[in-house]
Amino acid sequence: MEDPNLDDLTLDDGSTIGVVGGGPSGTFFTFFALEFARRVGLKISIDILEAKDFTKPGPAGCNNCGGIVSESLIQVLSTEGIILPSTVIRRGIESYTLHVENGVSVIETPFKEQRIASVYRGAGPKGDADNDQLSFDNYLLELCKENGANVIHERVTEVERAKDGIIIRTKNSFEKKYDFVVGAVGLNKPTCKLFQSICPSYIPPKTSRTYISEFLLGRDAIDEYFGNSMHVFLLNIPNITFGALIPKGKYVTLVLLGTDIDKEIVSRFIQSKDVRNCFPPDIDLEANMPCNCYPMINIQAAKTAYSDRVVLIGDSSSSKLYKNGIGAAYVTAKAAATSAIFHGISSRTFKSSFQPACSDLDKDNTVGKFIFLVTSIIQKSRILKSGLLQMVVKEQKKPAKQRRMSSILWDTFTGSASYRNIFVRFLNPFVIIYLIWNILTAGLIKLKPGKHED
Ligand SMILES: Cc1cc2nc3c(=O)[nH]c(=O)nc-3n(C[C@H](O)[C@H](O)[C@H](O)COP(=O)(O)OP(=O)(O)OC[C@H]3O[C@@H](n4cnc5c(N)ncnc54)[C@H](O)[C@@H]3O)c2cc1C
Repeated sequence: MEDPNLDDLTLDDGSTIGVVGGGPSGTFFTFFALEFARRVGLKISIDILEAKDFTKPGPAGCNNCGGIVSESLIQVLSTEGIILPSTVIRRGIESYTLHVENGVSVIETPFKEQRIASVYRGAGPKGDADNDQLSFDNYLLELCKENGANVIHERVTEVERAKDGIIIRTKNSFEKKYDFVVGAVGLNKPTCKLFQSICPSYIPPKTSRTYISEFLLGRDAIDEYFGNSMHVFLLNIPNITFGALIPKGKYVTLVLLGTDIDKEIVSRFIQSKDVRNCFPPDIDLEANMPCNCYPMINIQAAKTAYSDRVVLIGDSSSSKLYKNGIGAAYVTAKAAATSAIFHGISSRTFKSSFQPACSDLDKDNTVGKFIFLVTSIIQKSRILKSGLLQMVVKEQKKPAKQRRMSSILWDTFTGSASYRNIFVRFLNPFVIIYLIWNILTAGLIKLKPGKHED
């Protein structure tokens, strides 16, 4: 049902907003909408409807993620007034350890702003009773509550368009009509489908199956075997675009990204010599894995993620390919809040003031796809990998500014920079010539497998 006067479709004093999903995109939207409304003196009320309880460990409170947050995003958030407390950060990561079949190298972050932090989206892995650290998602949800949002812990089962609003119904018979509804439901298929009924042109994003597991090692073993380093693997295993081990408190998180990761691929990765060598030799990894899952990841943006009185944000619309999904959630959430508070909530308004933020992410992902194509070619070739490894090993002796390839790889692995920025830096003639030189001479340097080079 079309609203009669599209251009007059705006929020007014007393307007109600229902945000379905209290993950990062839902909470970022709420934070900005409340803040912008306060600035212009608009009196709105926001309900966040969230099915999970982020204070619970394991699947009940988990939003299935590697939990890497870049220093640059932490800084951007703090300038917005979202200051992540140290209790949310599980580990500050200051280097990455690059593993290829021909060797290993520890690469320090060339610049401070390239550091990253590891967090847990929920309260930690299944069975974890460590209460001294907080969930990232719960911290954001509490912040929204402090700023005036109302949080309803219920699963939304129905959304229906009414004459002058949208009705939301939950599993436990909650029912309310809102002036404006935000879909921040991630990649939850049934809920995305619900939104198609009120947003007829919406086509949900394309997804691919990934893998996450947690290994319980204890703080001492983590300090000894991982320290403040994220381990990144460029191994020639089919379907895996990127594999990483991320230390967090007494756990280490394994993340495998790529296409349709299954049990067999996971087992091949975990049993590979390069991965096993990272762990204490006597540990039984299967027995020390409290939880694992195969979550979906957004690999191609949704289409037309808006309609009159409705907008979809975060993973439900456009994300960043393989990396920094939380940063992308921030971008789309802020764009939607800007549009809703300052411009309006009609389909036409979202097209002009929200869609450009999504299109920008989508264009960057096209460059990202090309970068991952090049990475996959390197991954399959021992000689290219040797050249690359040799180049970054040599760079460690140079001043930070000249560690160009190390910096490019760091941003590719962590998502700290846009893919366009990474690509432009890769096109620097110094990088290309030095890489070719290293590939040509790689065979002359013997790098023993498993040996750490400084
Ligand atoms: C394997 C893997 C590793 C990743 N690693 C990283 C990383 O290291 N760093 C990073 O920045 N990003 C990472 N991401 C991406 C990141 O997880 C997402 O981009 C991010 O979570 C998107 O936030 P969101 O709020 O849009 O969606 P989500 O985080 O999925 O939140 C959606 C919320 O909606 C709720 N919901 C859904 N349906 C309903 C309903 N019907 N009723 C009520 N509530 C509902 C869910 O419970 C959930 O809380 C990773 C993703 C994967 C798959």
